[in-house]
Amino acid sequence: MKLGDLEFHVISDGHVLLDGGAMFGVVPRPLWEKKMPPDTRNRIRLSMNCLVIRAGGKRILVETGAGGKMNPKLRDIYGLDGPFLLDGLRGLDLRAEDIDIVINTHLHFDHCGGNTRIEGDQVVPTFPNAHYLVQTGELDHAMRPNERDRASYFQENFAPVGVAENLFPLEGEHTVVTGVELIRVPGHTAHMQCVKLTGGGQTAFFFADLVPTTAHLPLPWIMGYDLFPMTTLENKRRWIPEAIREGWIALFAHDPNTPAAYLRSRDGSWEAESFTLS
Ligand SMILES: [Zn+2]
Repeated sequence: MKLGDLEFHVISDGHVLLDGGAMFGVVPRPLWEKKMPPDTRNRIRLSMNCLVIRAGGKRILVETGAGGKMNPKLRDIYGLDGPFLLDGLRGLDLRAEDIDIVINTHLHFDHCGGNTRIEGDQVVPTFPNAHYLVQTGELDHAMRPNERDRASYFQENFAPVGVAENLFPLEGEHTVVTGVELIRVPGHTAHMQCVKLTGGGQTAFFFADLVPTTAHLPLPWIMGYDLFPMTTLENKRRWIPEAIREGWIALFAHDPNTPAAYLRSRDGSWEAESFTLS
C-alpha cells in the first residue's frame, strides 16, 4: 500500500489465543462470542499484526509479535503458532539486518516478543542494526511491573545487553521520519503509543491496543487487561470519530480477519469496512 512516497505492508507474526472474557472486559459473553467464538478453553484467536514501512529512506517495523523464545508450557497456554515475522519480512525482500527502526507500541509480550531471539545461550537483538523506539514511561513500567500486569512483561524482550543499548526511550509525540508519527495514547497502559502514517493526502492509523480488533469499535467494548479503562474510553471517543471524519485507513493490531479497514458511522454505531491492502 502506498501513501505518496511512503509504502507500508501488514504482516503477521502468527496467532495468540487469549481469554475471551479478558479481551472484552465488561461485555457479557453472549454478545462477544457471536463476533469471536471461543475455543473449549474460552480463548479467542487473535492475530499479531505488524507493520513494515518504507519511508524517508528507512525501513521501519512496528511491533514484533510474540517471537520464538517462549517455553512450551506458555506456547500452549497462549496457543502460539508462530513466529512468522522473519518469513513475512523475507516475503518483502527484507532481512532482519535491513530494519533500521523498530517501534514497540508498548512492551506486552505479544507486541515485542520478537525484539530478541536466542543465539546459543544468549538473548540477542533480532534486528541488530535497528533503533528500538518505545515510550520512556512504558519502559520504566515494564522494568517494574505490578502484580496485575506482571504476566504480560518478559524482561528478555527489552532488557538484555544489546537490546537495552539499542532502545531509544521517547517522551510523548515523536516524528520518526516524515510521514511516520508516534502519538502517546494511554489507557491500555499508561504510555502506549499509536502510529500515524501520512502521505499523498492519505492517512493510516495503527490503533495498537486502543482498538485491537474491529469487534472493539463500540465504546464500552474495552479490554479487561486495560490499566486505565476510562482513559481508553476517552481516547476511543477522540480517535475513532477523527478516523471516520478524515477517511483514515484504520489498522488493527489483533484482528485476525480485518487488519485494515475504513471506519464508517451508520445509524449511530461505528462499523469497519474491510478492504484489502494493495
Ligand atoms: Zn496486544
